[in-house]
Amino acid sequence: MALLEIENLSVNYGGVQAVRGLSLRVEEGEVVTLIGANGAGKTTTLRAVSRMVRPREGRLSFAGRDITRTAPDEVVRLGVAQSPEGRQVLARQSVQDNLELGGYTRKSAADVRADISRMYERFPRLGERRNQLAGTLSGGEQQMLAIARALMSRPRLLLLDEPSLGLAPIIVREIFSIIRELNDDGTTILLVEQNARLAMGQSHRTYVLEAGALTLEGESAAMLNDERVLHAYLGG
Ligand code: ATP
Repeated sequence: MALLEIENLSVNYGGVQAVRGLSLRVEEGEVVTLIGANGAGKTTTLRAVSRMVRPREGRLSFAGRDITRTAPDEVVRLGVAQSPEGRQVLARQSVQDNLELGGYTRKSAADVRADISRMYERFPRLGERRNQLAGTLSGGEQQMLAIARALMSRPRLLLLDEPSLGLAPIIVREIFSIIRELNDDGTTILLVEQNARLAMGQSHRTYVLEAGALTLEGESAAMLNDERVLHAYLGG
């Protein structure tokens, strides 16, 4: 049984068909990359899984449970967390407050405090800046905060939307090494990235979306060596 199974998903925004008949699965322990041009429907797919948009058609299941109509906070409780595109940290709240917010579905305040301490160990720069307003952090630090905030719900599946967006290459490498560590520690990851080559190099499998529909899928390593993929999606 796959951890996440998307079957025949379609999502519309008014008259715009953002996702058309998409099926994909993410197995426990995998990093899976979703690539495609701007507007291909990648963000919409993640938002359908976290139940921020309503599918017009299709079925979503997580850990064997149908979540097609489950409320967004319940999906978080079941073990799915999203780090959104553009990070969307609360700029006028402290780092610490942002992390507390990420733990909103948790029952025990003591557990939340303990996990915040663990986040400061994993992301020392967030620890040093715990009382700083999130809006004053650098782009890379804000991305770390967005990931740490998502981790506060102790997800089994982490949805990462464009974690490298707007970051300097050295910071991008740092973010990707964090992604690898999280996966080594047992977190399954569905990753949306513009930086296709890098993301494919760090993932087990890749799906390619075009105009809302899947056009290719396969093992990332094999796809990186496939002439068709190189020419069509990776600039030769
Ligand atoms: P990007 O990398 O630019 O975020 P994407 O692959 O994530 O692209 P989506 O953001 O999922 O693509 O958008 C898919 C399609 O749906 C696009 O045509 C987009 O213009 C449209 N769309 C997205 N959000 C909305 C919305 N809130 N209202 C109307 N149309 C939308």
